[in-house]
Amino acid sequence: MISRNSKSLSLVVWRFMVAVLLAFGICRGLTAADSRPNILFIFTDDHAAHALSCYGSKINQTPNLDRIANEGMLFQNCFCTNSICGPSRAVILTGKHSHLNGFLQNGNTFDGSQQTFPKLLQKVGYQTAMIGKWHLKTDPTGFDYWQVLIGQGPYYNPPMIENGNRVSHTGYTTDIITDIALDFLKNKRDSDKPFMMMYQHKAPHRNWQPGPKHLTMYDDVTIPEPENLFDDYSGRGTAAKTQDMSIEKTMTPNDLKLNPPRNLTPEQLAIWNAAYDPKNKAFEEANLEGKELVRWKYQRYIKDYLRCVASVDDNVGRVLDYLDESGLADNTIVIYSSDQGFYLGDHGWFDKRFMYEESYRMPFMVRWPGKVPAGSVNSDLLSNLDFAETFLDIAGADIPDDMQGRSIVPLLEGQRPNDWYKSLYYHYYEFFGDRKTAHMVRRHYGVRTDRYKLIHFYNLDEWELYDLQNDPREMLSVYGDSQYASIQKDLTAEVKRLQEKYQVPDDRGSVPKNPPSLQPRP
Ligand code: CA
Repeated sequence: MISRNSKSLSLVVWRFMVAVLLAFGICRGLTAADSRPNILFIFTDDHAAHALSCYGSKINQTPNLDRIANEGMLFQNCFCTNSICGPSRAVILTGKHSHLNGFLQNGNTFDGSQQTFPKLLQKVGYQTAMIGKWHLKTDPTGFDYWQVLIGQGPYYNPPMIENGNRVSHTGYTTDIITDIALDFLKNKRDSDKPFMMMYQHKAPHRNWQPGPKHLTMYDDVTIPEPENLFDDYSGRGTAAKTQDMSIEKTMTPNDLKLNPPRNLTPEQLAIWNAAYDPKNKAFEEANLEGKELVRWKYQRYIKDYLRCVASVDDNVGRVLDYLDESGLADNTIVIYSSDQGFYLGDHGWFDKRFMYEESYRMPFMVRWPGKVPAGSVNSDLLSNLDFAETFLDIAGADIPDDMQGRSIVPLLEGQRPNDWYKSLYYHYYEFFGDRKTAHMVRRHYGVRTDRYKLIHFYNLDEWELYDLQNDPREMLSVYGDSQYASIQKDLTAEVKRLQEKYQVPDDRGSVPKNPPSLQPRP
């Protein structure tokens, strides 16, 4: 009996062990099936490619951001379909142009019930997170975890919304957003699922308030000026002449840090004043005028901008280091981009909006270990319309037919499809006619090929044409020049073809205005 009992006991133990081993094996099998790569989308606000050393910056160094390019692929010709904050984000989420996703200009309200790539990634088993600057007015949808700034959010001590609940923070926002992102990776990640995390900074958006570690960086140097800092716009039409975004005329005392930020703690304010009081005193005593005053404003602006970029670079370094230390780096695709570019004194400007190169181009680098050869460079045309499709392709998910871009995975694999883009469509809407609009940039649409750009400021009915090979700074429109007659004809037809392809409405001059809501957030 004893023997039989112990035999049956052995059998029970054996069966139990087999069951455990099987379960373990199934789990391992599941893990293997879920070896799809993680996606870390690092995104900033207004970081121009020409302020990244991997893009050949003449004014700063970005060693940590350069790691992504040096270990992956740098895209030289990634552009924004509508070069302004909220609209760029809405295009990225939906894979649709502004007129279809409904977010035409800042102040619109994003319809979070529509299809977005994070929702589709959730459906195929990804854990999704959104951390940092969201800027689409409605709460994020399609994320398992989110913690976002309220609207633009301040550079210091930001209140944030975490999965619907208000939370407060003390410190520098770029550091805080990174701390939250690292906390997600360390403590909130579901290790049974691949993750897609959008890690999105406010920096280096206006008004460029540096963090405590960088307040005196660049104090002892003079940053080189762009050659067209004193552009007189004589080679272009009404739009360039009537904007309100010049370093000379538009910058405010707050932009220029003649006043400290209002929401600092006493300790933060003491550190701030120790850095800026001596600089502001020297400025007052110098009593500058004319071009010398513009030059001083440029230095003050660009140094603060680059100080904000330096903090982003340090913090991205912290995240990349953690990916290495944790072993996540091997199976995590790291992407760096910014919602559009920015004028860094180019044409005498700051801000964005125009289809001219400096704000039209987006930095875009992708590190994909084992897939993308280190240090590769791609010069094909692409845009933020292609990001959603790319992320879905990476995850092995279906790309819906109503998305308007295409996956760049073939480019990452070194295979350029024969029917790849030969031109890109652009459309900027934020101008309200007789009503004062931020920066007063006229509505325009246009098309860019590898060499030429045609722009139509349609409320003015003024056209501009640029030969980017001969005139990379876009100082002289050649529209109407007989030498370019056939180019002009081809591009005019091309922009019309793209408007039909993308279903741009004919009544684009009277698109709904959706003025910013005056209702405060509850
Ligand atoms: Ca922006």
